[in-house]
This record gives sequence, C-alpha cells and structure tokens, in this order.
Amino acid sequence: MIEKKEISVSTMMGKLRKSLHLPDKAYFFDTTLRDGEQTPGISFTHEEKLSIAQALDKLGIDIIEAGFPVISEGDFAACKDIAQLGLDSEVMGLARMKKLDIDKVIEADMDSIHVFIATSDLHMKEKLRMSKEEVIESIRENVSYANEHYDQVLFSAEDATRSDLDFLIQANQTAVDHGATRVNIPDTVGTISPHAFGYIVRKNYETLPKDIRIAVHCHNDFGLAVANTIAGFENGASEAQTTIMGLGERAGNASFEETAMSLYALYQVPMNINTRLIFPTAKLVESYCGGKIKIGRLQPLIGQNAFAHESGIHAHAMIKNARSYEPITPELIGIKRSDDVEQIVRSSIKLGKHSGGHALKAKLEDLGIYTTEDQFKNIFEHVKSFGDKGHEVSEEDFLAIVKDVMGELPKEEQFVILDELTVLTGSVTPTSTVRLKIRNNGDFASRTASSVGVGPVDASVKAIVKCFEPMNKIQLLDYNIDAVTGGTEALGHVSIELMDVETNNIVRSSATHEDIVMSSVLALLKGLNKIVKVKSV
Ligand code: MN
Repeated sequence: MIEKKEISVSTMMGKLRKSLHLPDKAYFFDTTLRDGEQTPGISFTHEEKLSIAQALDKLGIDIIEAGFPVISEGDFAACKDIAQLGLDSEVMGLARMKKLDIDKVIEADMDSIHVFIATSDLHMKEKLRMSKEEVIESIRENVSYANEHYDQVLFSAEDATRSDLDFLIQANQTAVDHGATRVNIPDTVGTISPHAFGYIVRKNYETLPKDIRIAVHCHNDFGLAVANTIAGFENGASEAQTTIMGLGERAGNASFEETAMSLYALYQVPMNINTRLIFPTAKLVESYCGGKIKIGRLQPLIGQNAFAHESGIHAHAMIKNARSYEPITPELIGIKRSDDVEQIVRSSIKLGKHSGGHALKAKLEDLGIYTTEDQFKNIFEHVKSFGDKGHEVSEEDFLAIVKDVMGELPKEEQFVILDELTVLTGSVTPTSTVRLKIRNNGDFASRTASSVGVGPVDASVKAIVKCFEPMNKIQLLDYNIDAVTGGTEALGHVSIELMDVETNNIVRSSATHEDIVMSSVLALLKGLNKIVKVKSV
C-alpha cells in the first residue's frame, strides 16, 4: 500500500507515469552480501552475514544474493547457512559459467542460481580469451546444466553496457532458449548514461519473451547508478539489483534506499518492501562496516541532514505542514523525529536502565536480529550497565552493543578471559598491568604481565601481547577507533586486525565500551580468542 499522505512530489510525475511502461510490481534483488562485500575494506563475519540476511528478509527483499560459494569456504558456509534460515526471500547463489561453480551453488542447497559470463569485446578478449562463438556455446551448455537443477535461473551478460548490442541480445536470447527465466543487464563498470542505458534495456525488452523478468545492475562510477536503474524501469525492467547504503565495488552499486524510495514515492510502483525498515536496516549494515564506511551526512534519505532544517523560513513553514519542504515523511522510512522540527532527533529508542526485557526483545525483533538466549542476556546486561551510568542508549549505541555481543564467541569456546586490568595514566609514563585467564586443556591458568607504552591503550595492548606471547606470537596489523555517537560520553568502538605470525592467519575483531582502553583490550581479546580457536580445530 502506498501511503500517499506521506508523500508530496512533483505533479509532473503523475502526468509522466501514464506515458511510461512501468512494471506492475518492482522486485528487489539485494547484493549487499556479494557485490557489497566486494567493497574495498569491507568484510562481514559469518554471524553478520546471517544477521544481514535476516534483516533483508524482514525488509521485504525478494531475492538475496547470499554470495559466490565457489570463491571461499567462508562464502560457501554463509551461502549454505543463509539458505537454511527458512527466509521468505529467495536465496540465490552466484556462479561463473563453470560446472564447478554451479555445483557449489547446488551443494550449498540454495534456492536459485545466478550465472554470468562477459560479453564485451574487451572482457572476452582480455579476460576470458574466448571468441563470441565460444561464449555462446558456454551459455548453451552451462545454462542448460543450471536449469537441470533449478527452476529459476538468472543470466547476466557481464559488462553488458560495453558489449555489442546485437551480440548482447543474442547472448540473452540464447540463455532464455536454454532455460534462463530471468535476464540481468549489468552496467558492470558504470560506463553509461540513463538515456543510453534505457535504450539498451528497451531493445532487450522488445526482443525477449514477455514472461522473462529483466533485472538491472548499475554501478556508481559517475554517480548515475540510481538514475540508470530508474531508466531501466522506464524501459521494461522490473527487478532492481541494489545494495544497502550503495556498498559495492569501486564507487559502489545503486543504493537500495534511493532506488526503492524513488520507485515508491516518485513512480508509485507497488513493491514488497516495508519502507519503515529502510533506515534501521541501513544503520544495522553500517554498524557491521566497522567504521570503515559510514552513511554520509548529506546522503539522500538516510543521511543525518536528509530531514534537517536550518533556515528559519523553512522551519516555520514546516511547523504548519512538514510537506512544505520535505518530499516524504522521515517516518515513512523509519526515522522517528521529535515534535520540534528544528531539532531532528534520530530514532532514539529510549532504552536504558529502566528498560525491561520485553522492550529489548521487541526492539531486536524490529531490527530483524535473532539472538541466542546467552546473547540476549549479554545485550541486556550491556545496555543496562551503559544506562546505569546515566546514558540514554541511542540507536547507534544500541547497534554497536548488539554487534559487539553477536561477534563474541560463546563462553565455553573462549580461551582467553580478562581477569584484571589496571592502568596508570596522566603526567606519568603510562603503565598497564593485566591478568588474563588462559585455558589450557580445559583448565584455566592465570598469567600476569605489565608494560609501559606511549599511552594507556598502547601500554595495555603490549601487556596483553606479553601475557600471550609464550604461546602465540601476534602482530597487530590495524587499529581503528571511533566514537559511536558524539560527545565525551560516547561509546568508543575499536576495530582491529591481528595476525598470528606462525600461521599468517589474519583475524578481525571489534569491541565497544564507554572506556576506550577497555574497548581496545576487549577487541584484542576477541581477536586472540579467534586465533586460538582456529588453531585448535
Ligand atoms: Mn557489480
């Protein structure tokens, strides 16, 4: 149902709509876990991937591209586990035109398959070293094979926008003739304008059978990913391949938030999306990006300024009717705002020391986060202790805490536990003493070490590494700290990358605490636990 009273857009849109061949329904294909995970600097943990899949399902995403199972064991495990979640969303796996790749998707027991091969002269010559005839033969062979196992087969001609149009259509038609039920037209390298992209989509739409759903996959190299996606919809496409926050290779993919809300508010195309979960889902994914990618202040719809008003004239008009200077209500995408329009209060969830378990449970469910009983208890305690110190727990704080707890190994799998930490800092040489409990064959042994450092964090990290050193030589590769919200009371979020020097195994971990020395220490211990866990299996 489209909430017209929450939307006020150009009257020209209504006039234009009638002359366009818009689809009866817009389908959303989310590739946050595949293309989004290929964002330089971003890597989600297994638990984060599952949590994202659950949130996407709640959001109403039609198809989740859960990964590329052939590329790594981690991707395979995530694909398999997401397929097992019993989501309403269709869980799809990516495969090159290779039997090995297709078999991996089948082995991961995924709902449907996405197969691709490049069709541009550049890619065929330089990457594939295949002739046009060989590419067509490969499509025949592999799409047929995929179709033996799957009812739904999506075919993508990679680099479609730099391909010869006749050859692109021939490749798509071949795929359809051999069992592809959907065709995706990707602008893999973001090299086209909306008008030209619309032309390519239309030519395909006019040629391919009408029951073949056409998807579009656009990259943002010129800032045109969403515009190109929309141009696709004006010309016969009905499926948008997008990512949350526009994550993706290079400058990213078409942002889900902008694409979905444009189609919803400007074009009023029906869809399965629960728009009220758009903002919470983006914040959830942002929290999993470990501070490396953040929602920009000016980002459309979900940025901090998207519904903020500074000018007195605007604010005055806003009090009379918020639609005067806003195209949609922030509530429509799940941003709650206080009555004071000049001061936008982002959805503060009012969790604190007085919150009951029910409020917490409801909040988690709202966000599509499913916890074990232990995780729930930990989150509850963490929120309460933060609240006990007189803080109101904001959405950001809350998500940081949840992420923190979800990333923790269960107690029985922890090898290193912090027993005591003393830090001396100020106008002295910063000194830290730690006592750790380290498991050895089922029993815990205490180890104590002290170190000085350039600051309290440095001293503490060195003391811990000293405690741990007799068993494992560790190298800290990367250390990042940022405040979850603003102000001196903010939670400090620390994310680190550690390497086990003996095996070259690299692990990432993060932790959140109101004391930055503690966030650093907890992140380090989590990382050490991961290193020991990998070694012990
Ligand atoms: Mn892509």
